[in-house]
Amino acid sequence: MDADALLEGLDPAQRDAVMSDAAPLCILAGAGSGKTRALTRRIAYRIATGTAEAEHVLALTFTRKAAGELGNRLGALGVRNRVAAGTFHAIAYAQLRSRWADRDERPPALLDRKVRLLAPLLGRHRASVQPADLAGEIEWAKARMVTPERYEAEAAKTGRRPPLPAAAMAAIYTGYEAEKRKRGLVDFDDLLMLCASALETDPGFTAAQRWRFRHLFVDEFQDVNPVQFRLLEGWRGDGSDLCVVGDPNQAIYAWNGADAGYLTGFRARFPGAGVVQLDANYRSSPQVLAVANTVLGAGHRHTRPLRPNRGDGPVPTVTCHPTDVDEARAVARALRDRHGPGRPWSQLAVLTRTNAQSVLFEEAFRAARVPYRVRGGGAFLDQPEVKDALADLRRSPARVPFASQLADLEAMAVDEGGTDERRLHIDALVRLGREYTAADPAASASGFLGWLAATVRADEPEQAGDAVQLVTFHRAKGLEWPVVFLAGLERGLVPIGHATTPEDRAEERRLLYVAITRAERELHCSWAERRTFGSRTQTRTASPYLSAVEAACRALEAGGEVDWRRLIDEQRSRLRAVPSPARSKVEVGRNADPHVLDALKAWRSSTAKASGVPAYVIFHDTTLAAVAEAKPRDRAALLALPGLGPVKAERYGEAILALVAEHAVA
Ligand code: ATP
Ligand code: MG
Repeated sequence: MDADALLEGLDPAQRDAVMSDAAPLCILAGAGSGKTRALTRRIAYRIATGTAEAEHVLALTFTRKAAGELGNRLGALGVRNRVAAGTFHAIAYAQLRSRWADRDERPPALLDRKVRLLAPLLGRHRASVQPADLAGEIEWAKARMVTPERYEAEAAKTGRRPPLPAAAMAAIYTGYEAEKRKRGLVDFDDLLMLCASALETDPGFTAAQRWRFRHLFVDEFQDVNPVQFRLLEGWRGDGSDLCVVGDPNQAIYAWNGADAGYLTGFRARFPGAGVVQLDANYRSSPQVLAVANTVLGAGHRHTRPLRPNRGDGPVPTVTCHPTDVDEARAVARALRDRHGPGRPWSQLAVLTRTNAQSVLFEEAFRAARVPYRVRGGGAFLDQPEVKDALADLRRSPARVPFASQLADLEAMAVDEGGTDERRLHIDALVRLGREYTAADPAASASGFLGWLAATVRADEPEQAGDAVQLVTFHRAKGLEWPVVFLAGLERGLVPIGHATTPEDRAEERRLLYVAITRAERELHCSWAERRTFGSRTQTRTASPYLSAVEAACRALEAGGEVDWRRLIDEQRSRLRAVPSPARSKVEVGRNADPHVLDALKAWRSSTAKASGVPAYVIFHDTTLAAVAEAKPRDRAALLALPGLGPVKAERYGEAILALVAEHAVA
């Protein structure tokens, strides 16, 4: 693609983000502002203008799902196969493997599940704690580079509430590390650390990696943890250029060791770094955005509020159901109502705070014959066709180059034909093979098998067919759907019961913000007065955050897209102006027909009086000016105008069209 084409469909701030010469560069903005779009366009633009070579670009993300999304978007820009895109884990492991091969070292065996080593270490704590919780706590410590010796002090300092008293936790952590060493195993967290220390101590290896990947890009940078940041610094050295993209309002992995401070403190850490802020939202209707903004609240916001860019949508709803079963059934019915021509199931999603909530929905969906897909289903590597293909790879002689094995696999995917799941799985495997090849120049089948085990782990497979998505708030990050249901918005779930510190609560609030901002047009929130856990039925109360949602919905119902616009304006004027190049703005409504405009204003003031609201609640001056300029003759023309969505068109469209018809003749 040529460079100019890559700038099309970008607003001025996004263009700055794509074209800026600053290095390092930080792109900072709220949800749905086109950060990922700007990042992928920037990569393609740099390649198109010759300021970066595709072979030397590395695009990093934190989950394989996000890496896949990034890969797809790069594919659409025509640079996918030449650019390495992957998770920190995948890249680190590929680099380690090539280092081991170069040095003729035998790769250490990987411990796939920590609980295997942990369960025998529990001793008298067996009855009081789950091995998985201990594994989670060890992962937190390792993400923050906290050794067993320092664990107690660090847990106290950060106000951590470990699953066991800190001293006991530290003892188990010590035992775990010792057992792992004794058996000659490394775990997944160790891979990051091993790669980071190799980069710090082995100049030859470091020089080779920095030569290879000299342009670094990171999406969702608010999720970076200390060990990943150390690795990134190892890759970067002082030379290579770095562009990070993120939204501190969407930082939802602190419990897992992430630290959004790397994003918010970017400029302090890298003096001279460029910062570009984006200011429009392209995903959600103004109504959805209004609710999202209210939930975040002025006190919790870390970026400029976004200007809505999509047309009006319906006002979001909040529904209370008698029981959790009623809630699931009602959602299933609502899904059926919304599905139809032009609206496939895949445009609908149901989001819950926990995985466990999905069971009720699955039952209700089966009963209502709503096709659905749960993220976190069967593991990708356990799919039969994937297993078969891997067994073939394992059997094939070592002298067959990996590239031709991959080509065979690709041919097999084509032979499978159709779009069924088998084909999708093989396709996914081929994609992974390419990802691996991009990261490891000495690619081999055995290398690929090891890399897969380390990076894909429990990834769920892509499934074929049109289906409603049933996902947790966490897994929904970065994704979007036209219609979103948020279910189980109750105290104890949102925020989750174990979130008791102010920091935990703030993270829960951001998590709800992430969930709301997945919706493009329709947002439906619900909760139940009674919920059954096992054999216990509990009386529930609404999530404390719902009152803000309801207040926003009421204001929107009253015709006010206004309150939050004012709020945004106020906040904008309070925020320190961030320098940005001059923008040329074409003023809409400058050529308004004065007769039509006068008539519209008179109509507006009488309508406002009649309904007891201020005039601006009916329409802004700018909207009236736009109408008076365009003089629409029908509903479609009316809907094309800024500030005029279906809701307003429904309510006032007829009156406006009549006025235009009457006064525009003169
Ligand atoms: P998140 O914070 O959720 O990760 P994001 O900031 O990365 O969101 P994107 O996913 O890049 O946002 O963009 C959100 C949606 O808006 C996408 O569907 C994208 O294609 C669309 N979009 C972004 N910028 C523009 C634009 N200038 N014009 C039209 N659509 C746009
Ligand atoms: Mg994104």
